[in-house]
Amino acid sequence: MWLPCRCTSKTIVTSYARRVFKSYFCVFGRWKCDVAALMPEAVGFEGVKDCSSLQEFSVSNSASFWAAAARHRLSWIKPFHTVQDCDLSLGRIKWFEGGQLNVSVNCLDRHVDTCPERVALIWERDEPGSEIKAAPGDDMSPRKPVETAWREKGDCVTIYMPPCPLAVASMLACARIGAAHNVSSTVITVNQGVRAGKVTELKRTVDAAVKDCPSVQQVLVAMRTENPVTMTAKDMDMEEEMLKEDVVCEPEAMDSEDVLFLLYTSGSTGKPKGVVHTQAGYLLYAALTHRYVFSYQDGDVFGCVADIGWITGHSYSVYGPLANGGTTVLFESTPIYPDPGRYWEMVQRLKINQFYGAPTAIRLLLKYGDQWVQKYDRSTLKTLGSVGEPINTEAWEWYHRVVGDGRCPVVDTWWQTETGGICITPRPSDPEIVPGMAMRPFFGIKPVLMDTEGKVVTSNPASGALCLAQPWPGMARTIHNNHERFIETYCQPHPGYFFTGDGAYRSKEGYYQITGRLDDVINVSGHRIGTAEIEDVVNQCSAVAESAVIGYSHDIKGQGVYTFVVLKKDADDQEADLSQQLNNMVSKNIAKYACPDFIQFVQRLPKTRSGKIMRRVLRKVVERDLDGLGDLSTLDDPAAVQEIIQGHRKLC
Ligand code: ATP
Ligand code: MG
Repeated sequence: MWLPCRCTSKTIVTSYARRVFKSYFCVFGRWKCDVAALMPEAVGFEGVKDCSSLQEFSVSNSASFWAAAARHRLSWIKPFHTVQDCDLSLGRIKWFEGGQLNVSVNCLDRHVDTCPERVALIWERDEPGSEIKAAPGDDMSPRKPVETAWREKGDCVTIYMPPCPLAVASMLACARIGAAHNVSSTVITVNQGVRAGKVTELKRTVDAAVKDCPSVQQVLVAMRTENPVTMTAKDMDMEEEMLKEDVVCEPEAMDSEDVLFLLYTSGSTGKPKGVVHTQAGYLLYAALTHRYVFSYQDGDVFGCVADIGWITGHSYSVYGPLANGGTTVLFESTPIYPDPGRYWEMVQRLKINQFYGAPTAIRLLLKYGDQWVQKYDRSTLKTLGSVGEPINTEAWEWYHRVVGDGRCPVVDTWWQTETGGICITPRPSDPEIVPGMAMRPFFGIKPVLMDTEGKVVTSNPASGALCLAQPWPGMARTIHNNHERFIETYCQPHPGYFFTGDGAYRSKEGYYQITGRLDDVINVSGHRIGTAEIEDVVNQCSAVAESAVIGYSHDIKGQGVYTFVVLKKDADDQEADLSQQLNNMVSKNIAKYACPDFIQFVQRLPKTRSGKIMRRVLRKVVERDLDGLGDLSTLDDPAAVQEIIQGHRKLC
């Protein structure tokens, strides 16, 4: 196994960091801060005087660190007696045993009592300007359905809903009564979804699925639109049911390690994995990362635009912000509806302070031009976040310079469904942030790089397979009904370490950069290179909106480079001239061997619903293995694949 090596030249010293966090300063490479102001529970940790020593303490005294955080940040029904009982080589991960708590109480009740007027949710509906704000006492708030929860402890409930307060309410209702949300005897859905002005028939999809799932006994249907849908014998009107119920629903006392939810991975590399997260550790990790990675302050409006059906939506639209007593935005629409200014108009109208989105959307908006951003007042923005894929240099710089006016730190957050929350990321208070680098591990996280022989690389700079050397509370506990697959996938490749499947580069300063998935490394004429590295160069061409590079079997070179390119809006007529230009760019910036053998211009790339490019599908198209396209259940738009198949036939 070889690992790609990337390095970035520019360093941005965040003037923002100095301005807002006056108590921080960096002297002789140490990262100073007022620990009491930053993290009150850290006062008294031995030897902790600044942020650097706090980070070191959190790793070398992980149990003390997490115990203090758990006591300080969560409300417990019964205190835990054992902080951790983990063995990564066996796939045994247990945190806060003996403890009991209720997640909905932590996300809701305790904040309702202290701040009843606070807006907890802002539902940014599809039509701009039609948002609904839900304070804890309102009907739209999660509290009401939580209080009218209908199932028994231990049940499973599948939630198939667009981002809306009732979806959050349903998640918290499950948490309240101790039902894991996802696979189930009960389904909660809406009659129809609305996105970019188009209606999707969610209930019809559920009807079809329920036919094949005899275990489903009831389907609760909420009304997102006014259009009636056919109700079957299993269906119940959710709002009517809620009215019938008693208004008091006492929270169940849940053990720390009871299942909170199971959620499928995006399916970028294969069949999605049903990842299981448990109560206390997950909630603590979501809350702590939300607070520190984004420098979330009480009263801020947090705008994570991910769908709540993706882990990003779970951790940073729902659990993290709500556990912190924050105000969170649920975004129902798309970045270009009704026009490419949608995000920034929303930032202005809702006065969003932290904006968290995916590189795919940034690349899309970049191609429409700066004017859509500059039209709107973005002065409330403090932090910009990116998640889901490597963010290419051009997109990072545009995000920072245009969207953030050069004053908002960009936090490129690396994590996975399996990690529960952000693991490697810059923090706004960092003395420096290097574009496109995920920079530093979060508290309690110890990344290591493995070389091709499975040995930990200790020198810098270095590249390697990214593993995490010790457990943290937010990590997944298992794969649903398949603990063997969990062990094989994450624990066996490097026994004693959590194997992420991603590659990383570590600079001489010790900063991390995610170089992409290890599966996406190709070998051309004996040179091994990460496809993300070639994409980064191709994307720097002013006519290119985005690209995807894959390797294909080549008689002479071992593997050839096949590049799919999407052009910017007004560049469609330049295809003929561009091929040579792109070759020159790759040759100059990387090497001649990395130049594409084929460039296929396409209208769009196949993506998962969470916005990631499905390179495995592209590989199969190029290999002409159309029967082997694999699991397409998370593919956003199947038509994109058909277009690419036709284009490929013409080209080769
Ligand atoms: P599957 O595991 O089913 O193939 P997936 O890995 O895309 O799908 P997620 O858990 O949604 O499912 O995504 C996690 C992956 O996304 C990471 O392993 C990494 O490859 C990529 N990723 C996430 N954030 C970043 C980031 N900031 N920079 C680079 N890559 C990222
Ligand atoms: Mg994955």
